[in-house]
Amino acid sequence: MPSLQVVNPATEEVIATLDAVDESGVDAAVRRAHRAFEAWRTITPADRARLLRRFAEVVDAHLEELASLEVRNSGHTIRNARGEAANVRDVLLYYAGAPERFCGEQIPVVGGIDVTFREPLGVVGVIVPWNFPMPIAAWGFAPALAAGNTVVLKPAELTPLTAVRLGELALDAGLPEGVLTVIPGRGSVAGEALVRHPLVRKICFTGSTEVGKRIMRLAADGVKRITLELGGKSANIVFADADLDAAAAAAPYAVFDNAGQDCCARSRILVERSVYEEFLSRFEKAVRSVVVGAPEDERSEMGPLISAAQRERVAGYVVPDQVICRGSAPSGKGFWYPPTVVCPSGTGDPVWREEVFGPVVAVLPFDDEAEAVAMANDTEYGLSGSIWTRDVGRALRVARGVESGNLSVNSNTSVRYNTPFGGFKQSGLGRELGPHALEAFTEVKNVFIATS
Ligand code: NAP
Ligand code: MG
Repeated sequence: MPSLQVVNPATEEVIATLDAVDESGVDAAVRRAHRAFEAWRTITPADRARLLRRFAEVVDAHLEELASLEVRNSGHTIRNARGEAANVRDVLLYYAGAPERFCGEQIPVVGGIDVTFREPLGVVGVIVPWNFPMPIAAWGFAPALAAGNTVVLKPAELTPLTAVRLGELALDAGLPEGVLTVIPGRGSVAGEALVRHPLVRKICFTGSTEVGKRIMRLAADGVKRITLELGGKSANIVFADADLDAAAAAAPYAVFDNAGQDCCARSRILVERSVYEEFLSRFEKAVRSVVVGAPEDERSEMGPLISAAQRERVAGYVVPDQVICRGSAPSGKGFWYPPTVVCPSGTGDPVWREEVFGPVVAVLPFDDEAEAVAMANDTEYGLSGSIWTRDVGRALRVARGVESGNLSVNSNTSVRYNTPFGGFKQSGLGRELGPHALEAFTEVKNVFIATS
């Protein structure tokens, strides 16, 4: 059986070797999930809710273990990793409220009663990338399970360890066998087999736009439901009337958090020309003070990149002449890359247009509000973005004008488990999290009952 070697990106040491699930393993997992579906969808709503709450409690009891596993497998800083494990717990608790509260409708019609049911789909395949292995898995499996589906989860081949552990914890919590199955394996083998499997009714995918497009094409054969969360090239727009200290202090974390390996990274900073130099001097100071170091160190704010290949890809975007400022990074073993600020030659440069997925940010000035919105929208992506201004009217105008699914005003946060998350344009299809996710894991059934 082929194997997956799991490497600690901060030390380059092999920390685990797993069997890679092949096509027949995927088939067995999907069939098991299909058999488990009938019992899971018909369990009483209160019992399904109780099991999800118990799963959340078991995750909570293992927060530190899950966090340290993520530190070693993904190089996430320990403080981030704790937050990611806690996010799994919170997402489970949020959706544990759904089985007893997710209601259909009653619609007035002639000659009878008309009601709608939100029916589960069946087996759902969740395919997860390496950048946030725990949260992104939970954003798929928690609402899917709450709505009555069973789940087969394929983690990224580079980062399978926390997903495998979450699968074990689900069983410990009492979820029946087959309700949540984790299949570590390669995308081209296990991922593809999951998408093609006739018993899989929906694919919830997060990852690159390229693979997302391929999944969309493959899903067409079975008219499978899909949710896609893909790349981003989000803009952080700073107007002259903003609190420049706050905007400059927050901006590094909007792009260097998780070493820039974040689909919501604000990797383009647009600054109103009249405050461009003033903003840059404060921003550069903030960039130099980002603490890059050993992920297990409580003081670290940024760790290494996930792999040597990712570091090479990131470095390929940086033109030395365009670098205006660099932070620090450890030398020696590990896939380190320092926080880097560039001023591109214009909006045509790859570093301005493409998703770098590393700690590199590009900065350009703009002259007025209309130009800022046009520059922000001059991209095939539309995932997130920030607007810094003290003018409420402008904040709302720009928020409505930017073609993007998740915008923050005077803040850089995009993702909350209780609000919808997803992309415009080539950043994705459908919405995760919040109340909206449940709709994406169910089918509306209409039933008419004659009364005369
Ligand atoms: P990716 O190749 O799209 O991987 C995402 C997931 O899809 C992984 O589990 C992967 O498995 C799987 N996969 C790959 N090929 C597949 C196929 N043909 N059928 C079904 N599943 C398949 O992304 P990546 O290679 O990890 O990252 C590449 C770039 O994508 C990044 O540099 C970044 O620009 C972007 N990205 C975006 C996000 C986001 O959140 N929007 C997340 C990650 C990456 P394997 O791990 O085994 O290949
Ligand atoms: Mg890939």
